[in-house]
Amino acid sequence: MSKTFRAWQITKDDDAQVASLTELSEDDLMEGDVTVAVAYSALNYKDGLAITAKAPVVRRFPLIPGIDFAGTVIRSENRAFKEGDQVILNGFGVGETHHGGFSEMAQVKSDWLIPLPQGITPKQAMAVGTAGYTAMLCVLALENHGITPESGKILVTGAAGGVGSVAISILSKLGYHVVAVTGRTSEHDYLSELGAAEIIERQPFSDKARPLGKELWAGAIDVAGGNTLANVLSQISYGGAVAACGLAESMNLPGSVAPFILRGVTLYGVDSVMAPLNKRQQAWQRITTDLDLDKLERISTEITLEGVADAAEAIMNGQIRGRTVIKIV
Ligand code: NDP
Repeated sequence: MSKTFRAWQITKDDDAQVASLTELSEDDLMEGDVTVAVAYSALNYKDGLAITAKAPVVRRFPLIPGIDFAGTVIRSENRAFKEGDQVILNGFGVGETHHGGFSEMAQVKSDWLIPLPQGITPKQAMAVGTAGYTAMLCVLALENHGITPESGKILVTGAAGGVGSVAISILSKLGYHVVAVTGRTSEHDYLSELGAAEIIERQPFSDKARPLGKELWAGAIDVAGGNTLANVLSQISYGGAVAACGLAESMNLPGSVAPFILRGVTLYGVDSVMAPLNKRQQAWQRITTDLDLDKLERISTEITLEGVADAAEAIMNGQIRGRTVIKIV
């Protein structure tokens, strides 16, 4: 008889999408050459969109949500992994078109897995999660552009959220002067503890952007898109760069080409979902050396599978501080 396990499942009936915590059997798993006993997952913004059905993240039904997980291999048909190996997974359509991590069990392609980096636990890996690994991809984009702590101040939008919190922690450890943009005055102490040297209000960034503003920042990490990204671009110093990874404000970019053609500003798009293996491994490796694990503890809150629905509503309302780790068993 096949084993049963608990998982969140999203079903679609006519046009209504419903998410519920349920019991499934091994027969419900999708094709994959490695089976993993999931120890931790995490609630990312995209998971919030999936659970609350605010955007068409899930494109196959029924589907187990959860775009990342960490756990232990319990079956492998690929020599790259063996029973007992600890692994992590971010993206590759997991939680969108393939069953994801809000589940006691996952069956995936071995190509999507990477070994748990040495020096961090499965729980810490999910406290970083897709948001934190994306924050590191953004930091790498700015570094590859040649931006150093001596170049000038770095702006981080969505500062108290998942990507923002991890980005601030990494950048401050690397010696950058970090300026945090937040809409939450209640989070000022938290952002200072993470290493933000200055904290500024997010409201002015929501207004329509001028083509060019004062040159204030050597670089920026933006999670918001929309007017926020257009304003950020208009304030980047000559030759600087922005790493853009999110759409917390909007998918639009209502700006001007002036920063690009008059100041040589570069806009880097950052994608974590299909990022190639070498980039993933580099990002995770840097996380183990350049992210203070004490700060990671401060950033993360633990919930169980039962708490997923409430946490999904909260992340949609911009009420989540840092990262939400889901303890599966
Ligand atoms: P969170 O919800 O944890 O954080 C988002 C933060 O953005 C909020 O906490 C808030 O910060 C700020 N924010 C919310 N609404 C607005 C608004 N209208 N205008 C400006 N700022 C706003 O999400 P994550 O940090 O996990 O993800 C951030 C974004 O990055 C999401 O859009 C997500 O989809 C995207 N993302 C993309 C990835 C990729 O591969 N490209 C991977 C991971 C995430 P505060 O309260 O401090 O103002």
